[in-house]
This record gives sequence, structure tokens and C-alpha cells, in this order.
Amino acid sequence: MILEGKVALVTGSTSGIGLAIARALAAEGAKLMINGFGDPGEIARECKELGAIHDGADMAKPAQIEAMMQRCADELGPADILVNNAGIQHVSPVEDFPPEKWDAIIAINMSSAFHTTRLAVPEMKRKRWGRIVNTASAHSLVASPFKSAYVAAKHGIAGFTKTIALETATSGITVNCISPGYVWTPLVEAQIPDTMKARGMTREQVMNDVLLAGQPTKQFVTVDQVAALALFLCRDEAASITGANLSIDGGWTAA
Ligand code: NAD
Repeated sequence: MILEGKVALVTGSTSGIGLAIARALAAEGAKLMINGFGDPGEIARECKELGAIHDGADMAKPAQIEAMMQRCADELGPADILVNNAGIQHVSPVEDFPPEKWDAIIAINMSSAFHTTRLAVPEMKRKRWGRIVNTASAHSLVASPFKSAYVAAKHGIAGFTKTIALETATSGITVNCISPGYVWTPLVEAQIPDTMKARGMTREQVMNDVLLAGQPTKQFVTVDQVAALALFLCRDEAASITGANLSIDGGWTAA
């Protein structure tokens, strides 16, 4: 198993893409801390299956992030692999966009990666090995209307990724972001009603004319496809991939 002896921390890993990445890393022997919200029984079951521990830190709260990083170091060891994945969405025209939603999206989807990364990098530098994988989005490269905070945060995480890749380039650390198109997860399911309202469309119209309209394959990306790419970035063979923004979007951003 290629990640035997490595400690991995995946934020937002109780659901969707993060959970799939956590499963892929655990299957290769990583000692895992998962994070995110959800039903406690379900989370306990997942921890048992993965041999993982769970920390419920709110990624909008820097003090809770710091406590989570410390707990990971204390109970498993400092994170060798950090996956910044937690994210939320809100769909609304800018003039109606609730300021508290803007703040939450910027905090969870972007600033949380700064708070984890600044604490993870010193030990990665000391060991001269580290992998930081940020879940960005096709929206780190292109925009869609009614997603001002999300698009701003994802463009931000792409810039942050490049910056930290340069800062750590000679330290055995790689820093990359993965930019999926539409992946079928609860996050996508949840934005259908608001998109129906914002665009005056039916559910079927939102699925075909909005979500998959720009995805040339006309298929949703799967969480397992994203997890396989994240796992590849953790391999030693991926040591020269750093500062990259890797699209996995069915051709969306090629258009
Ligand atoms: P999801 O809703 O299935 O999972 C989100 C995870 O983040 C959950 O574990 C949730 O508990 C956690 N989370 C939310 N708020 C949190 C907070 N404040 N603190 C800690 N954890 C929190 O969504 P997903 O689709 O798997 O999204 C995961 C990431 O992938 C996000 O960053 C999202 O922007 C990105 N992404 C998703 C898609 C897509 O189409 N689904 C496309 C591109 C990028």
C-alpha cells in the first residue's frame, strides 16, 4: 500500500467528494482524520470502516481549525497529506446575495485552506515530504451567473495553490488543485431549487440546460474519478506536479 505510514487529513469528508477521497487514501494505508458535519451514527460507522478519527471543526472558525490540526498531530501525527475540500454553495443574483452567505463561502471554501496550510507546512518541510490537494472547481477558471461568492472563493483557492506551490517547491512538498465540473453530490442536488427560482426553470431544465449544458460529455463527473486523481497526486510519481490546476470537467473549460 503506497500510503502506509502517512497521515492524511481531509476536510469536508463526511459526504460527496471528500468522503470518496478519504476512502481512496484509507484504502492505500493512510492514517486518516476526517472532518465535516452529519449524522453522528453515520460518521461513527464511516470512521470504523476507514479506521479513521473524526473532528467536527467548523471550517468557518479559525480557532476550531487550529484545534483540529493540533488534535491530528497529537492523535495520529502531523498531516503528511492535507486535502482542503470542505465547501458550500449559495445561488442568488448579487443584489439579493445575503452578506452572511458571502462571508461563509469565502471562509469555508477559501480561507480555511490558508488556516490548515499554514499549520501543516512547517512539519512537511521538516520531513521534506508533503502533499496538499485543494478541491477547487471549474469555477476557479470560469464563472457562471448567480454564484459570485463561490466563483470568487474558487478563483482565490487557485491563486493560493500556486503561491504555496512556489513557496514549498524545494521542500519535497507539492500543492495542487483539482477542478471538477459538475459532480453528482448533495452539494449539486441542493442548488437545484434555488437555480429553478433564480432562472425560472423546471428541475429537468436545470439539470440539462444549466448543470450539464457546459459539460461536453453530458455526464456528471463521479466522486470516484475525482478521488483517483487526488490519490495520484499523493504518489511519489507525482512529485513534479506542483502548482497545477487540474481540470476534471468533461471538457467544460476546453470550450
Ligand atoms: P457535499 O455537500 O457532498 O460535501 C461537503 C462536505 O463539506 C461535507 O462533508 C460537509 O459536512 C462539509 N462541510 C460543509 N460546511 C462545513 C464547515 N463549515 N466545516 C466543516 N465541514 C463542512 O459537497 P461536494 O460536492 O462533495 O463538495 C466538496 C468540494 O468539492 C467543495 O469544495 C465543492 O465546492 C467542490 N466541488 C464540487 C463540485 C460538484 O459538482 N459537486 C464541483 C466542483 C467542486
